[in-house]
Amino acid sequence: MLPSRFDYVAAHSIEEALAAKAQGDEDTRFLAGGQSLLPMMKLRLAVPSKLIDINRIDGLGGVERRNGHLRIGAAARHADVAASDAAFGAVAAAAPWISDPLVRNLGTLCGSVAHCDPEGDWNSVLLATGADVVARGPGGERSIPIAEFVQDMFANSLASDEMVTEVRVPVPSGRSGGSYVKLERKIGDYATVAVAGHLELGDDGRIAAAGLALTSVAPINLKVAEAEALLVGNQPGPELFAEAAELAAAAADPRDDVRGTARWKRQVVRTFTGRALAAAADQALKG
Ligand SMILES: Cc1cc2nc3c(=O)[nH]c(=O)nc-3n(C[C@H](O)[C@H](O)[C@H](O)COP(=O)(O)OP(=O)(O)OC[C@H]3O[C@@H](n4cnc5c(N)ncnc54)[C@H](O)[C@@H]3O)c2cc1C
Repeated sequence: MLPSRFDYVAAHSIEEALAAKAQGDEDTRFLAGGQSLLPMMKLRLAVPSKLIDINRIDGLGGVERRNGHLRIGAAARHADVAASDAAFGAVAAAAPWISDPLVRNLGTLCGSVAHCDPEGDWNSVLLATGADVVARGPGGERSIPIAEFVQDMFANSLASDEMVTEVRVPVPSGRSGGSYVKLERKIGDYATVAVAGHLELGDDGRIAAAGLALTSVAPINLKVAEAEALLVGNQPGPELFAEAAELAAAAADPRDDVRGTARWKRQVVRTFTGRALAAAADQALKG
């Protein structure tokens, strides 16, 4: 099927993009990598009246460390994150797992974050690492914690006149580690189940901060706050991680589908949570 007719604007500045959005109707959309939007348009699941292409805006790309956080610009591709020396922990672990090289070369992390597909990998990583999404609108810039940004399946908390300009992942000051453990049927597939883990260790070796989030097993990317609370204040180890894995399996709400049964996916959550936390702890102890 072909997309329906739409207008197209190539913005050369954030201001120009925001002005075009303000002038458009409610079906006006930003175009980043097009790796989710264009397939949806071809299936007529999305019928935008106007596309505002943000790829020609100077300064919107980049993956770098700045002021205590990892900054990932709205035009930075998945492949830029995968190739970056600045990326760390769960972010660095997840980047090579996004689809295949074609999608990684075109799709953007910020586009994925804005899209809020519960099968998308990045929002789990950002939930585990406590990232912020930076939005610009006519009133200026605001920083939105990822847990508030993700509202529902395919729904974010941006106002209709705002766009995402970057994501900021805090860089821990002490020893830390992160992981992304993903099960996919074949290269390029979305996750059957995936788990993002993040641990920070205090001087006494106990867990000072913990992040855990699940992909593809709930209507949204799922932050497992109960498991995070259990981990903090304790010494990392297999028994603690097994307890956290039970909480993650209980929190997951998978469905039977072509990728497997709900019962089996819950078991994968249990196993992969243990692996994700062990890998994060290992990295933190070595660092
Ligand atoms: C075959 C295939 C396999 C895939 N496999 C995976 C996978 O394994 N894991 C995974 O996570 N993803 C996967 N994806 C999705 C891919 O990661 C997309 O790149 C991503 O979901 C969207 O990023 P994009 O830059 O392509 O956004 P686009 O498709 O351009 O936009 C997506 C949505 O976000 C909005 N948007 C984009 N940028 C902004 C912005 N700056 N501000 C506000 N709104 C914005 C758009 O208006 C649109 O509604 C796959 C895609 C394909 C085609």
